[in-house]
Formats: sequence, C-alpha cells, structure tokens
Amino acid sequence: MRGSFKLFTWLGIPVFLHWTFGLIFLYILWHAQNEGLGTLETVWLTGLFMALFLCVLLHEYGHAIAARKYGVKTRDIVLMPIGGVARLEKMPEKPIQEFVVAIAGPAVNVLIALCLFAGMNFAVEGDLLELFSYAIRSDIGTEIVTESGYFLSPWLHFAIKLAFTNVALVIFNMIPAFPMDGGRVFRALLSMWLGRPRATKIAAWVGQFIAMLLVAAGIWGSDFMLSILGIFVIYAARAENANVQTEDLFSKYTVKDILRPKFTRMRSNDWMMSAIETLRHGLERNFLVFDVNDRLVGMLEEEDIVRAMRKPDVTAEILQYAQRAEVIHLHESLLKAHHLIRQRGFGVLGVIDDEGQLVGVVDEAGLSYFQRMSE
Ligand SMILES: [Zn+2]
Repeated sequence: MRGSFKLFTWLGIPVFLHWTFGLIFLYILWHAQNEGLGTLETVWLTGLFMALFLCVLLHEYGHAIAARKYGVKTRDIVLMPIGGVARLEKMPEKPIQEFVVAIAGPAVNVLIALCLFAGMNFAVEGDLLELFSYAIRSDIGTEIVTESGYFLSPWLHFAIKLAFTNVALVIFNMIPAFPMDGGRVFRALLSMWLGRPRATKIAAWVGQFIAMLLVAAGIWGSDFMLSILGIFVIYAARAENANVQTEDLFSKYTVKDILRPKFTRMRSNDWMMSAIETLRHGLERNFLVFDVNDRLVGMLEEEDIVRAMRKPDVTAEILQYAQRAEVIHLHESLLKAHHLIRQRGFGVLGVIDDEGQLVGVVDEAGLSYFQRMSE
C-alpha cells in the first residue's frame, strides 16, 4: 500500500506500517499535555497503545490464518491508526468459510481478554471489580491504593486496561455492518439460507440503518468521529452491495451477450496522428492494434493517445505507444470480462471464437450499458 513501510514478515505475510501511524504519537503527546501527565505516565500510555496495536495485529493474523485454511492467501497486513487491514487476495464466497474468516479476527481478541482476566483472577489479591473501576477511571503510571486497601500496581493497571480495550474491540468489530467483521458474519449467516446476493442486500440495509443511528448519536452527543464513522459505514455498505449485485448479474451471462462485432482497427505502423483523429471524431476510447498481416499485436488506450497528443509526438508509430492486448473467449463468463476491465484495467478486450478467430471486442461502455439495461 502507498505510504507504508515494511516492518517484518511473519508466517509468510509481510506487515506494513502506514505513515499515518505516526499520528498516534502526536495524539499521545497531545493527550499527555492536556491531562498534565508526567514522563512516567506518558511512557505507560505509549506502552499501552503499542500493546493494543499488537492485539490488532494478532486480530488480523486471525483472519489471515483462517483464510489460509481455505487456500486464500493474504497479500499483506497494513497497520493504520484507525486499526489494521489484512488484505486477502479474495474473500471466500462459501458462507461457512466467510463466517469462519470473519469471526477469526474478533475471536483472537476474545482469547486475549480471557487470558488476561484468567491471569488476574489467578494472580491478584483483592476485589477485582473494585480494582477494575479504579483502573478504568485513571491514567496508568502511579501506584494506587483503593478504598478497601487493595493495591493497584502499574502492571496490573496495564493488564486491566488492555483486557477491557480488547473487549471494546470485539464489541466494535461485531457491529453487524460492513466493513466491520460483524457485517461479514451477519451476511454469511443469512447467505446460508437466502443466497449471497439477497443476504448482501439485507445485510447492507441493516448496516445502513445502524450507520444512521451512529450518525444521529454522533450529532446528538457532538461526537463527530462517530458521525464520520457512520457515514463511512453507509458508504461501505452501499459499495459492498453494489459489488455483489453486479457480480451476481455478470455471472449469469457470457461475453457473447455484450460482444461488439464492429470496431475500429488501428494499424501498428500508422502515425499516432491517425489515432488522435480517430479518438477526436469517434465514440470509441480504446483500440486494438493490428500489424500489416492483420494479426493482433497490442492495445492502444485513451491515455496513451492523450500522452502522444500532449508531447506532441504525432509522427511516432502507433506500435511505440501500444500496450499488451488481452483476449477473452466468446463463451467465457461476463464476470471474467468485468474483472479484466474493471480490476485489471484493460481498456478493451479482443473476443475470440472456438477457432481462435477475432470476432469482436468488449469494453467498459458495453459492460455499463448492459448493467443499466438489466436493472
Ligand atoms: Zn477484523
């Protein structure tokens, strides 16, 4: 990811730190200044934040290891001040698998919290509930003696805060709205009897409803971070739903359904001038390039032509500006064309029949027109 640098690789997964992570230290300094914390208290607070991010990292590894169980690789894990992201190559689509992958993250935090609480229960003398209430209300650093005379050391204070933060992390993550893990868990459960497209639609509606409540609660309590989070959730729910509905639609059709048999052929040894003219006076934006023997040798995209126009480089051969062309079979699923055009970024795809003959092209215009017609 841009603006990140690599920390280390563990279990075959590189871990990156996003530059905005530095803002955490600014926040700590600001908080310390505001609350009048001493050096020792500031050091403890910094330690607590670092431990919290270790928990976030383990949470992401929970997702990654569960995904690996289903043969899905994790490209990397990126740590940001708002949390971590494990970037899986894809999300498993089988409901039970999505369920396991989504729940594996929060499960790690449940485990950490349980271990901490069990350790305290075992090792600490005194009324734990009373110690908890003192620990949550105060900053770490100084030794505290409670009303009943129990001793709250900085280490115990640290463990209590870390345990409760893990609990908070679980609650927050399990909100049933995208992009939180709870949204995926909820969708996966619904998918088991409704199918993925309908389940996503319902999960997106529920997610948006919760997000509205977050926005309203944020305005009500002048907590603008909460409102911003709510807006972000609304956006994520809509995007996830649009994505799944689109993929569902395209998976039911083949390339043949949007094939465009008539298209402009660029000649590899023509000047870029002719490409500029074609772009200026036609509707097509991206072109296939052919040599003198009419063999497909490349693809020329709008940006390539604009680049030649700006330079200006109108007498260069088209082949100099052409990129690698991609072809797709007539009977291939439209979903594959969707991935190649919208994710891999090919401006136009050549379409071949069973004999390997080029019979037409598909492009973004064709995809989006088909989509509009089908809604
Ligand atoms: Zn997660």
